[in-house]
Amino acid sequence: MRETHFLSAIAFAACSSFFLTQNVDAQIQLDASFDHASLKASQSFVSSVSGDIMLRGRTNYYGNDWRWLYFKTSNIVNQNPQFWISDDFAGGSSRLTNHKMIYSYDQENWHYFDNNGLDYEGGYKFSNNTNFTQNDVYVAYSFPYSYGKASSHVASLVGNPYVKPTKSANSNLVIGQSPGGVDDLGRVVTPKNLFGYQITDTNSTKPKKKIALTSGLHANEVLGNHTLEGMINMLVSDDPRMKKLRQHADFYVYPMLNPDGRYAGNNRTTVENVDEDPNRLWHPALYQDHKDIKTTADAMIADTDADIDYFIDFHSTIPTGTQTDFGYIPYYKDNHNDPFWLSLKDREPQIAALNSTGTNWYTTNFAESFLDAEFDMTFETMFSLNRSQDYYTDLGESFALAFFDTIVPLPEPTSFMLLSVGLVPLLTSRRKRD
Ligand SMILES: [Zn+2]
Repeated sequence: MRETHFLSAIAFAACSSFFLTQNVDAQIQLDASFDHASLKASQSFVSSVSGDIMLRGRTNYYGNDWRWLYFKTSNIVNQNPQFWISDDFAGGSSRLTNHKMIYSYDQENWHYFDNNGLDYEGGYKFSNNTNFTQNDVYVAYSFPYSYGKASSHVASLVGNPYVKPTKSANSNLVIGQSPGGVDDLGRVVTPKNLFGYQITDTNSTKPKKKIALTSGLHANEVLGNHTLEGMINMLVSDDPRMKKLRQHADFYVYPMLNPDGRYAGNNRTTVENVDEDPNRLWHPALYQDHKDIKTTADAMIADTDADIDYFIDFHSTIPTGTQTDFGYIPYYKDNHNDPFWLSLKDREPQIAALNSTGTNWYTTNFAESFLDAEFDMTFETMFSLNRSQDYYTDLGESFALAFFDTIVPLPEPTSFMLLSVGLVPLLTSRRKRD
């Protein structure tokens, strides 16, 4: 049984400072003033049987719709409110049908709410069956991946023997700064770091495949960042397969392409250009006035000498016709039959391929036209499948292992192996090796 609160009314207001704090009642406070948080305003909703907290999502880029939600509630211990938010969800309210919101006491360990769902009154409601056990509770649409988290992860790689700055980067693996700006709530976002680094065995003189990896372009698409982080942690690990892979591969990593939008809690875009999809601008004629994209794009051309073998951009998406994670892959280049993709499919049978067609100056079009990428893919991890956070980092490990399967040459057959009929499949299969 939920406790009853009596909530006082407050006005909707766009906050003009970075301190968006709303008094919902004498005890409960909502705060969306921190890195990656997003909430427009809140109002009270009074019921005779329960205390409900009505939320307003930010609508930047998507007309009247929201697509990202993340805030902190304070003074909520021993209470059990029901949260409401409008079902004006970008992409359609039906995309919330199977969605579950999450909460955390520490911003690290997240739990799904017990009760989630669309309501006939035009809202989406979520609540728990039991009271919160701590004073401060974080609530989010999905597992947050803040600018600060990206920054800390990059900092943790400085000095790693397998990691070095790209040609464009300084010793802190920073290639430049984003432009910053003023967000839709009137808050000043200061310029943020853009990162670039390489992972390889610098002592290896063997021929190397060149692989460029990016993420964080769409501000709300956090799952892609978790997958890339899982992949990076595998690539720099002491796993013997990764040791071999680093001798034959050179990874160029740009992990947070839109730090301003991520920091500001935007639904999709950068802060400087809140009305433009940043994944339609990856051509020199289009990105001259978009400092964040231009900085990374110019760095990628210089860093890779405009010649790579593989390009992967990690995104996330809402449920559509394809109810699983998938890669947009250009079939006309036969990339869906590339050994890397086939190995990844062997390791992650649930993923799907969709034909990528046309040129809209996505990152992948840029990679094909300006980095001469042989293989390019936008990989979309799916929201609303209510998986554990570990699923996404484990998926990233499979990307690293699929490159091992694909790039590291098979051992030269020994006379013993040639005499052993049972080992013939090992010599002929390029797929999923341990
Ligand atoms: Zn995206």
